[in-house]
Amino acid sequence: MDSGRRQFLGRCGVVLAGAAAPLALPQDMLQQGHAQPAPDGEAGAVTERGAGAGHERFMWRAIEQARKNPEWPFGAVIVHTRTGEILGSGVNTGDDSPLLHGEVVAMNDYVRRQGNQGWADTTLYTTGEPCSMCMSAMAWADLRRVVWASSIDDIRGTGVKQIDLTARQVADAAGSLYTPQLLLGGVLAKHTNRLFREAQCLRESLSGAPEATYR
Ligand SMILES: [Zn+2]
Repeated sequence: MDSGRRQFLGRCGVVLAGAAAPLALPQDMLQQGHAQPAPDGEAGAVTERGAGAGHERFMWRAIEQARKNPEWPFGAVIVHTRTGEILGSGVNTGDDSPLLHGEVVAMNDYVRRQGNQGWADTTLYTTGEPCSMCMSAMAWADLRRVVWASSIDDIRGTGVKQIDLTARQVADAAGSLYTPQLLLGGVLAKHTNRLFREAQCLRESLSGAPEATYR
């Protein structure tokens, strides 16, 4: 282990990569394909009955995306609400463009694969509460069901600057064109909060900068 990594681990007290990764996906998630429909069309669907386990299942897939960018672990998947099929996915690629938050990358992936249609039948899962840009994009798309893990305040607490509007506030302000069916936060937040804390440690170890903008 090099001295930089040892210093980083000593300060953060976490291990970020490899077999000991604290947020390793459950085995059943690792064994699934990228876009796997629910086996019987209902068991994996995003229904309100048994919604907790269903939401967690798909949030793990968003976390799987987030882990592709350890410094900025904002990952998202877009799921067909009835069948549970994953129709789009993405992770923050803010180094390429300030627009490319995880939710927007997932929406672009959806359009590539499905066309610009069918949004009202989908649910988006994201590791962090959507910022005002992403929530606005979902309002324009009429993507009515949004589930997130860490709140904007949780994320801000890990040194990521945020525009101070909640997803609910943006949705309410879009009321003339948008009526969400589900805005739900906190799903697997215990896990994603740790992911964001680890990302903060990693960023600080790499740059020494204590804060950065949300990207
Ligand atoms: Zn965003």
